[in-house]
Amino acid sequence: MTISLICAQQDRVESLLFQSRQGRNGATQEDQVWLASHLRDCVSCNGKAEAAAAAVEELHTFSSQTLASRALVRNTQLQVRFRAAQMRQQQERMMPLWLGVSLVALWAVGSLPLVWSGFEFMSQSFSWPAHVWQGGAVVAWLMPTGLLTSFAVSLRRERELQG
Ligand SMILES: [Zn+2]
Repeated sequence: MTISLICAQQDRVESLLFQSRQGRNGATQEDQVWLASHLRDCVSCNGKAEAAAAAVEELHTFSSQTLASRALVRNTQLQVRFRAAQMRQQQERMMPLWLGVSLVALWAVGSLPLVWSGFEFMSQSFSWPAHVWQGGAVVAWLMPTGLLTSFAVSLRRERELQG
């Protein structure tokens, strides 16, 4: 049993500890048995081995905290999910608008001949001058588009103000 503070086997112990830390297979079974026995008996080497193990453990803990703390990871995940939900909401808000724009486009394409001939027929019945019935036909033809567009713009502005 070695009690002195300076151990004669110190170099051998450090070498074997280093090899085992590195995961190298340089140390034989005999070396490992000797090391375990020596660490049990030698206060000096045992203290150094424990201090080295504690330092390595502390370094692992520190490096894992430095890479990304749990709070940072959690906060980042929350912000990413929040932003994704916001983008989904915006897309859902835009769906009725796209639907409305499609319907109005269909209305514009399909209704012009009907609106035009309808106003022409009424102008003959009520003796309207050409600029009146033609102007009325254009207004009636464009009214749905104008109403829907102004409604969509005001709705969007209101939602933007609400956040
Ligand atoms: Zn020793």
